[in-house]
Amino acid sequence: MEKNSYPVMIALNAERGLKIFYEWKPSLILLDFVLPDQSGMYVLHHIVEKAKLEHIPIIMVSGNFSLENQVNAYRSVAMDFLAKPFELELLTALIENRFAMKKDWERSIIIDELTGAYNRKHFNHMMRQQMEDFERSEHIFSLVMLDLDYFKHVNDTHGHLKGDQVLQAFVSTAQDVVKSKGILCRYGGEEFALILPHTDSVQAARLIEQFREEFNAIKFPVKETDFQVTFSSGIAQFSEGTGHSEKLVDEADQALYCAKRAGRNQMYATEMLERKNEVILNQIVVDDDPLIRDILINRFFNWKPTNHTKVKAQGFADGRSFLTSDWYSENEKYIILLDGSMPEMDGLEVLHQLRKHFPEQQLLIIMLTARNNTDDIVRALQIGADDYVVKPFHMQELVLRIERLASRILNE
Ligand code: GH3
Ligand code: MG
Ligand code: MG
Repeated sequence: MEKNSYPVMIALNAERGLKIFYEWKPSLILLDFVLPDQSGMYVLHHIVEKAKLEHIPIIMVSGNFSLENQVNAYRSVAMDFLAKPFELELLTALIENRFAMKKDWERSIIIDELTGAYNRKHFNHMMRQQMEDFERSEHIFSLVMLDLDYFKHVNDTHGHLKGDQVLQAFVSTAQDVVKSKGILCRYGGEEFALILPHTDSVQAARLIEQFREEFNAIKFPVKETDFQVTFSSGIAQFSEGTGHSEKLVDEADQALYCAKRAGRNQMYATEMLERKNEVILNQIVVDDDPLIRDILINRFFNWKPTNHTKVKAQGFADGRSFLTSDWYSENEKYIILLDGSMPEMDGLEVLHQLRKHFPEQQLLIIMLTARNNTDDIVRALQIGADDYVVKPFHMQELVLRIERLASRILNE
């Protein structure tokens, strides 16, 4: 057998045989009926349950080819009975046959019949393995959840048989694109999970985009016409903070849900969601007094009003340099502290320009006014200032006002 590249372990008695069985986990067992210490049937009874679980074929061999022996062996779930002496050629053929069968067995318990993707059971197993791999060597990996769009409609319009063909084409196309880089599993129904070892979410996104293009291009023929199908997907990358594999599935699922909500036929990654949620709050001080600028910018430098708010602070010495700089970005929010009296262009004029040219709800404006002049204050409020503070101000009071305004702009 070793000449045929099957490594063989030999046990001359039952005790040694059992030891080898437990320690070496053989792929196939040849078991003699008559042994010096115990009977072969004794050994068979001991190992048969575990052997069944692990799909290890057991072939009984005996010089005693009695009917009783054979019946007993088969009743104890031995797979084959071989009479001694036997031809080596016969043994080789039998073993090859059993190994081929074992391979099919093993495949069948992890493969989804319809599509040829791995099944949910194998998905769980592979996720556990990836987690262990990460803990041992910090090898990153990504998970993509994929779900066909409006698949119920495909079934309803073209029948379940066509639906099945779409699922098969989905898997074979994905496997062509992903090749050995990933493990594609049928997670349930028309939802699939792709595990990508050694792949970060950016690489994963690239792969999925390629797959999306190829799958979208497939034309499924029906009668005189044809139809196309799309899918949505969510990507999550495993990292230190993820902790559990269930959490990763959850994250990828959430990203998938967002892709569906955003109109389907697209992919989302968890980082995109985080970035989408993050609000950038700009604190801008426009004052010709450098001391006030410094104090205010420093005061708000490390401010974190909410968990997903990032605060940026900057100062300008006069209205014109502020308005002509590229301070504005469409997706960010602003709290602008505006000095009432500045050379060249005064605060009221700057306020006027801001209210005229920028969206109201994005900009909160606080006037800092030295003149305790009611008319100026009223004008400022009329033009659209949200609040005013009279100089010289108490820091504490200003901070309180800014925090209150910030909570208004951030909760919108
Ligand atoms: P969405 O874009 O929101 O995912 O809509 P959908 O219609 O794809 O989703 P929904 O979950 O409502 O429907 C999924 C359908 O997939 C329902 C089910 O009959 C069908 N389906 C699940 N497994 C199979 C299968 O093995 N073969 C076929 N032909 N259809 C399947
Ligand atoms: Mg679907
Ligand atoms: Mg679904």
